[in-house]
Amino acid sequence: MKIQGIAYSELAERFGTPLYVYDGDMLLRLLSELSEALHPALDIFFSLKSNPNVSVFGTLREGGAHAEVSSLLELRTALLAGARPQDIIFLGPGKSDLELDACLRAGIYAVVAESFEEVDRIERLAAGLGVHQRVLLRINPAFLVSGSRLTMGGKPRQFGIDEAQVLAAGNLTSRYRHVQLAGIHVYMGTRILDAEVVGKNTRYILELADRVAVATGIPLEAVDIGGGLGVAYFDGEEDLSPASLGEELNPLIDEFARNHPDTRLLMESGRFLTAPAGVYLTSVRYVKESMGELFAVADGGTNHHMAAVGIGSFAKRNFPVRLLNRESADDGLQQWNVTGPLCTPNDTLLKRAALPPLRVGDLLGVTQSGAYGPSASPGLFLGHGFPAEVLVRDGEAHLVRSRDLPEDMLRQQHLYSRVASSAGTRNEVS
Ligand SMILES: *Cc1c(COP(=O)(O)O)cnc(C)c1O
Repeated sequence: MKIQGIAYSELAERFGTPLYVYDGDMLLRLLSELSEALHPALDIFFSLKSNPNVSVFGTLREGGAHAEVSSLLELRTALLAGARPQDIIFLGPGKSDLELDACLRAGIYAVVAESFEEVDRIERLAAGLGVHQRVLLRINPAFLVSGSRLTMGGKPRQFGIDEAQVLAAGNLTSRYRHVQLAGIHVYMGTRILDAEVVGKNTRYILELADRVAVATGIPLEAVDIGGGLGVAYFDGEEDLSPASLGEELNPLIDEFARNHPDTRLLMESGRFLTAPAGVYLTSVRYVKESMGELFAVADGGTNHHMAAVGIGSFAKRNFPVRLLNRESADDGLQQWNVTGPLCTPNDTLLKRAALPPLRVGDLLGVTQSGAYGPSASPGLFLGHGFPAEVLVRDGEAHLVRSRDLPEDMLRQQHLYSRVASSAGTRNEVS
């Protein structure tokens, strides 16, 4: 019921709900556990996609995390949090000229190109600016890995260039003057909970790097082995332990690093570093019964935590949840549907979750919620806006994102109407 000695109910009172709370000390612990278990030749790049809050990355940076970004905003966020350009990579299948231009001007470590057409575009833009840019080729591997909840490779994909196309491309070294092709990137999938699967992927990627180098002449200045490290969300799942990852990966990395002492090895991780460090706090507004089922209608749901709602997944499974404002006996558990404020039946945060008898005003905490939270949710749906976010460091809570207000959300709309000239006063409404 507490985070670093502060009661969650105190945070709810001070900052309001719905609220995301991130444990900054845990962010650093997760990062150091991972980096200490893994071979020192491996540089960890934090995927801002998983949690783009500037202070979350700012905290991880203290622990030595680099940045993997995929939009102009994420790039700006990484730089604002103090990342050095040489510690940033940019990837994504639909990069704009504006984004590429920003990468080139900032002088980031590498742009990960997802097609040869994109490499040509970077070449043209870099020539225009008179700069050189390191580029890694993202490869869609021919190998299909099992064990990932969302596979990215081994299938027709918008990501990267098919392995066969890269291997058939001939010598690539003299084709570009401003682009320095400098290695490869492969990302096989996400939510992998089995260290052996990560090991198999990595073995394939490192061998592929050598094959690509031979076939194309590209020097291996950098190889990005992706990642996709999972966390346990649901009953029956078990966390991936850094120790088991180290056992699988380190011998492979060690051998590769000895054969390629000048190659920078990169690994990307988002969820693994942030999910366990976040809690979504939501307050119960109403309790009711409908046709024999219990409902707690809370002040937040799908609009802030789509991952927990699980839209799109086949069967609804519940994220872990706890009652945080009062002690309760474990024996009187009931089955509660916890729903949000949206006018859609999909807005069901928890389905028949085991919780004590709930009352109006109760505070619920959905744990494992530090990744793919607000930024991966339809926060504007029904106009509730995005929630506030708080980071706790050394026993102190810091507001790191303000709650959206209606005026924030109206700011970017422009009124066009032939009747509303002085809307907004009570008298107008009839
Ligand atoms: C989404 C993504 C990541 C981060 O995935 P996690 O499962 O959060 O670690 C890393 N790399 C690429 C290419 C991605 O698309």
